[in-house]
Amino acid sequence: MPNNIAVIAIGGNSLIKDKQHQSVEDQYIATGETCQHIAGLISQGWNVVISHGNGPQVGFILRRSELSRHELHEVPLDACGADTQGAIGYALQQNLYNQFRQRGINKNAVTVVTQVEVSADDPAFQNPSKPIGSFMDEDAAMQRQEQDGWHVVEDAGRGWRRVVASPKPVRIVEESVIKSLIEQGITVIAVGGGGVPVLADAEGNLRGTAAVIDKDLASSLLASDLGADAFIISTAVEKVALNYGKPNQQWLNHLTVAQAKAYLAEGGHFAKGSMAPKVQACIDFLERGGKRAIITNPENIERAVAGETGTHITNE
Ligand code: ADP
Ligand code: MG
Repeated sequence: MPNNIAVIAIGGNSLIKDKQHQSVEDQYIATGETCQHIAGLISQGWNVVISHGNGPQVGFILRRSELSRHELHEVPLDACGADTQGAIGYALQQNLYNQFRQRGINKNAVTVVTQVEVSADDPAFQNPSKPIGSFMDEDAAMQRQEQDGWHVVEDAGRGWRRVVASPKPVRIVEESVIKSLIEQGITVIAVGGGGVPVLADAEGNLRGTAAVIDKDLASSLLASDLGADAFIISTAVEKVALNYGKPNQQWLNHLTVAQAKAYLAEGGHFAKGSMAPKVQACIDFLERGGKRAIITNPENIERAVAGETGTHITNE
């Protein structure tokens, strides 16, 4: 494998800036801005592998699917994941193509529709907790439970929702393909949305499952598998804070794994479902032998890699 591999997990703000900018065209423009910063890193000699979130995009597909179910078949959750990997991957590929052309970089970008194996024994399957799709009334929820086997929960007076499991990523099925593309100097887009979750049967055959994998945890696993020199999480904040959103908020330049674990255990610093899984993903990468993890925003990717900003997490 080549040196200088950076895995960059790009967050929701690289695709959707705000509620007024959610169209496919708006997402393309937002993606293009992040691609400028990624291309900057590539022009410095980094071999970049990109992963991305897909929560709102899966939500849009599910909503279309629900609204048209009187006329067309519905789209299962694993297929929604694969659809978004293709569409978001396309926007990234085209923006990178244009960036490479404009900068005179002789490179290609390609998307790998990625399956990520999860374990049927993962405790998350006993406690599905990730809400998916639109709110329903109780009758519709009960009908879905009986006819489609959905897990449904009442959401604090706002109505009923489907919930699915969020199991840990165990194995990236397309790992060897991703590696051979990197060896050829290709910029790879992989594990979009955390990957399509799949279960292996007793013989080892794979089948998609209605679950979602955290994209930061799956990107961390990819970074470890590739022996990446840097694992970068790009999100909506330049740095991670202690006591985030409180009067005594304190931005962090550096954390050791031991400090990061202590603050996670303390609670109240990194919000569940947003910053906590990012910090955990960095800890996992470093504990599996990684050297540097960085959390920053798209605009600061290059400066953060140069050590000028971002929150850096290292073993010591
Ligand atoms: P992404 O789409 O990139 O995964 P998330 O919204 O899931 O983005 O997570 C990033 C968000 O986490 C930040 O925009 C910020 O509002 C929030 N956040 C929660 N805790 C912290 C913290 N301790 N420091 C910085 N940001 C935090
Ligand atoms: Mg997130």
